[in-house]
Amino acid sequence: APAHTVATLDVLLAEPRGFCAGVDRAIEIVEKALTKFGAPIYVRHEIVHNTYVVNDLKTKGAIFIEALDEVPAGATLVFSAHGVSRAVQQEASRRGFRIFDATCPLVTKVHVEVAKLAKEGYEFIMIGHKGHPEVEGTMGQLDGGIHLVDSVADVARITPAQSDKLAVVTQTTLSVDDAADIAAAIKARFPKVREPKQQDICYATQNRQDAVKLMSPQVDVVVVVGSPTSSNSNRLAEVARKLGTPGYMVDSAADLQAQWLEGCQRVGLTAGASAPEILVTQVIERLKALGAVSVQRLAGDPENVKFPLPKGLRMDTTEEL
Ligand code: SF4
Repeated sequence: APAHTVATLDVLLAEPRGFCAGVDRAIEIVEKALTKFGAPIYVRHEIVHNTYVVNDLKTKGAIFIEALDEVPAGATLVFSAHGVSRAVQQEASRRGFRIFDATCPLVTKVHVEVAKLAKEGYEFIMIGHKGHPEVEGTMGQLDGGIHLVDSVADVARITPAQSDKLAVVTQTTLSVDDAADIAAAIKARFPKVREPKQQDICYATQNRQDAVKLMSPQVDVVVVVGSPTSSNSNRLAEVARKLGTPGYMVDSAADLQAQWLEGCQRVGLTAGASAPEILVTQVIERLKALGAVSVQRLAGDPENVKFPLPKGLRMDTTEEL
């Protein structure tokens, strides 16, 4: 076919890609807090898992910490988009910080569901990645009774106290397909299990994975802009690889290796929900320097999700706290 004789490199851009509504809101909370209260603003954990975003906010006066005893009395503290456990919330209140909660409303929704079902006597099986802050936050909504599974094999290993009142909850940024396999294994072992009405996996995770599924067969290689710690970005590279297309993650344009493009005619580019568009632009510049001659946007459904800022940080600066 004539197309295969053309020795040029084309870039295909996935739609949607990059920032989701929860990330947008979380970053805006830190920026608004800096404007309103001045530096420093303390942030518990990386506000979102992206190196560029975190460094940018550091230069503006944000200080990122893990333990609350690193925060001085009277300071302003922001919880990251991943959410926090009850214990962290309580400790922060006890220490008397001015608190802004940048937990994504879609994570909070899972927390609320856990609290509600726990009152009804449910025990939980959580599908998620051990050690991820969102998993720690969700599991930390209760003192116990949440069993974490990260694979189909894990399902056989958990030991709930009973099997009549079991509910599944998930991390919001999982592989949609892997989560479905794990959920099926849970259902097979615990037929009475209560599954979420809608999956806890968020719209942004779902849409970005769908876009990569559409893109992967059309390209020779997929490049995902995202930091190594970003769960949803890692899943995007995995989705490409599962479809047989090599998938690589880059934290910035400098990470892009020319050898990945050897023999390629089309490179697919996407970005995780925490990766800013400026990094995509810089990766495109680097691809052009390496021989890319065209950039095409793939068709995709636009996202119109927007979450309101917390009280005390909305635009009206005269607002009472
Ligand atoms: Fe919220 Fe999903 Fe974005 Fe996470 S990836 S911040 S859950 S919208």
